[in-house]
Amino acid sequence: MAGKCPYCDNVVSSVRIELVNSIEPSGKSWKSALFSCPICMKVLNVSFDATSHSKHIIDQVTKNITDLIP
Ligand SMILES: [Zn+2]
Repeated sequence: MAGKCPYCDNVVSSVRIELVNSIEPSGKSWKSALFSCPICMKVLNVSFDATSHSKHIIDQVTKNITDLIP
């Protein structure tokens, strides 16, 4: 059974997802996923985008290994 939106009280069987930037006070930014109600469009949650972060880690490790090869 699907839950209800806490703002409009409609049953939420799907959510809208948008990729947004989360910006730290230092200015560093990360990709995040913003989940909103498809009916009233209010934000239900914002979550760290693990896929984007995983790619960043793989790219950095690959670069570090490549830099070690003479
Ligand atoms: Zn809603």
